[in-house]
Amino acid sequence: MKTAIVGTGYVGLVSGTCFAELGHEVICVDNNEEKIKVLREGGIPIYEPELKELVEKNVKAGKLSFSTDIKEALKKSDVIFVAVNTPPLPDGSADLCYVEDVSKEIAQNLPGYRVIVSKSTVPVETGKWIKKTIDRYAPDGAEYDVASNPEFLREGKAVYDFLNPDRVVIGVESDRAKEKMLELYKPLKDKTEILVTNIESAELIKHASNSFLAMKISYINAIAKICERTEADVEEVARGMGLDERIGKHFLQAGAGFGGSCFPKDLSAFIDIAGKLGYDFSLLKEVEKINAAQKKGMVEKCKSMLWNLNGKKIAVLGLAFKPDTDDMRNAPSIDIINDLLQEGALLRACDPQASENAKKILPDSVTYCADAYEAAQGCDLLLIITDWEEYQQMDLGRIKKALNDPPSIVDGRNVFEPGEMKKRGFNYTGVGR
Ligand code: NAD
Repeated sequence: MKTAIVGTGYVGLVSGTCFAELGHEVICVDNNEEKIKVLREGGIPIYEPELKELVEKNVKAGKLSFSTDIKEALKKSDVIFVAVNTPPLPDGSADLCYVEDVSKEIAQNLPGYRVIVSKSTVPVETGKWIKKTIDRYAPDGAEYDVASNPEFLREGKAVYDFLNPDRVVIGVESDRAKEKMLELYKPLKDKTEILVTNIESAELIKHASNSFLAMKISYINAIAKICERTEADVEEVARGMGLDERIGKHFLQAGAGFGGSCFPKDLSAFIDIAGKLGYDFSLLKEVEKINAAQKKGMVEKCKSMLWNLNGKKIAVLGLAFKPDTDDMRNAPSIDIINDLLQEGALLRACDPQASENAKKILPDSVTYCADAYEAAQGCDLLLIITDWEEYQQMDLGRIKKALNDPPSIVDGRNVFEPGEMKKRGFNYTGVGR
């Protein structure tokens, strides 16, 4: 099939590339000319494992191309995905301006029947607004359907997730749109369940899923607080809980809190839309509160080791919101680092991929280092915020030598075993154990 993806960011670029890999002809569109220029010249504007090779392969095969021209892309496509950003507004609601802009541009250039699919994460009933927008700006009698196809890929594993999804959710309101969407996902039909719902259910599935996952993380972080006040070890508690199939073992890792471009914003957007629909989702408000406290808790742990932080040198390992991505959007490191700087700490930070993005966000006083060993040099404490593989594998002997005495570690991701670390002579604390 012929497809256009409007919005060539993390989701748009991965989705477009993977649709091409599945055999379709795809045009990825973006209004960021620089981004499209980079892609046309063979570059990749984001770090995502496996993506570069797949883009190269499909561009070479003539199945994937890049453009800034929605009008041209619309002419050549049966299905148009809207994969633009839906960032949070100051009141927590989702900013749907970009979705509206693209809907309007599509409406004004509709060349015939098209399925217009929201892939962006949007509040329930956004599909209705997209439809109203298209009706307002499209020529009389224009033929189209609106659909919802929320994306569940995880950054860092995005290509794998897109090609091996747990499920595909398609929200439609006509058989014609349903057939087009099923045709598009036909290559995945033997691999995964394809769930067809109405548009509102599909939209809600995404917010409900992300909020549930965030709730699981805050839940185990709350359990970690109880563990810290007793002899219990949250890692053992989580393992014991996760063995129950009804609970499941995923998203039960206690740590420095969740972040990223999705969970915090989807949670607040869900709370907002629930409120507008007349339901006070207080459960999710508590999830947010626990997460904020968890990040503050990292600073408290540093203080409990160093007493006053003013003038103390701290090595920060990991800036991206999770391993295997360069994405700094809403990373827990941002709040933690700002609080540490507020306390007067001197920070030496490193991250295998996210340092360049971090420089645009974090205060200039942060010193960036090539790796954990350089960051640890002469520091009073080492704080692990993101559990990149290279930090899990680091040479603890070298780290111990690099740190000032007593060598102290706050492990915000429970990368190491407390007993082992004590044996090695570290002054060590993790989360919930
Ligand atoms: P992103 O910021 O990386 O990409 C969005 C792109 O849309 C940008 O390149 C931007 O230039 C482009 N854009 C904005 N307005 C445009 C317009 N009028 N015309 C053409 N292009 C335009 O965002 P993302 O992380 O890819 O997220 C996109 C959506 O997918 C969001 O709603 C997000 O919540 C959702 N989502 C993200 C993830 C993730 O892991 N990043 C996972 C699932 C769902």
